[in-house]
Amino acid sequence: MATLGNRRNTAEIIQRYGFDFRKKYGQNFLVDNSILDRIVEAADITKDDCVLEIGPGIGTLTQRLAEEAGEVVAVEIDRNLLPILAETLADYDNVTVLNEDILKTDIRGIAAEHGGRPLKIVANLPYYITTPIIMSLLESRVPKASITVMVQREVADRMRVGPGSKEYGSLSLAVQYYAKPEMIAKVPASCFMPKPNVDSAVIRLTCYDKPPVEVRDEEWLFAVIRASFNQRRKTLANGLANAGNLGLDRGQVETVLGELGMPLTVRGETLALERFAELSNRLYELR
Ligand code: SAM
Repeated sequence: MATLGNRRNTAEIIQRYGFDFRKKYGQNFLVDNSILDRIVEAADITKDDCVLEIGPGIGTLTQRLAEEAGEVVAVEIDRNLLPILAETLADYDNVTVLNEDILKTDIRGIAAEHGGRPLKIVANLPYYITTPIIMSLLESRVPKASITVMVQREVADRMRVGPGSKEYGSLSLAVQYYAKPEMIAKVPASCFMPKPNVDSAVIRLTCYDKPPVEVRDEEWLFAVIRASFNQRRKTLANGLANAGNLGLDRGQVETVLGELGMPLTVRGETLALERFAELSNRLYELR
């Protein structure tokens, strides 16, 4: 079968099946072979690997993954794509397509069925749910080695920046607690069909066996982080004292900031992950 990673072959198959792109599913298919090469190379797949692909579309990236991996499980929500995938993946006996919503898929079950080895997750993600997908993958106990994904460029930047940048926030901290982020490629809108309104980027998150900081309680750490960024233009002390779910009063927050040598006017966007870990561990004792 001819490679799908170009405009002509993608248009041909779409027309032949009378497929209508559905905006609500974030359907922007990749039509650039050099970007597909970069994704597959960055994902570093071998025949020992089981790859989870989110949103195979017409199977463009899936074909490449199937060439490299031992097995591929591809989760696609749009059942109108199933007949197309049946054709484009017919030559591969190592691909399973599941017609499901990835946010409801039992990913741990998939890993367990494939020997419990850490999954390599690869996707050109639907942008309307990028953050929930990444967060649920990171927070879940799914064994995973890496997540190599195409996302909106601005989201890729948010994942990898540190304190002091205006993009820095809860997503940066969550990603950097669980994984090492690396920018792989910047991708212009012209590499997709139809063309999205934003530029994109491929980012690789290499998952840590053990997070780089020690915390008493992960859920508490992320509750503290969220509260600290809740009111962006306000101080961290305000955010923490006003977060009902933390149950802390202003006096307690101010005392802890003082103990840690942080000024009362400190803002969340200036604190690195290590500082958030110290802060959350100390606040944890006061719950
Ligand atoms: N992988 C293909 C490519 O690179 O050309 C398609 C990528 S397109 C950006 C995103 C794909 O995710 C679409 O096929 C869309 O139908 C699918 N999708 C959207 N929401 C989904 C969900 N909740 N669960 C699984 N797949 C989803």
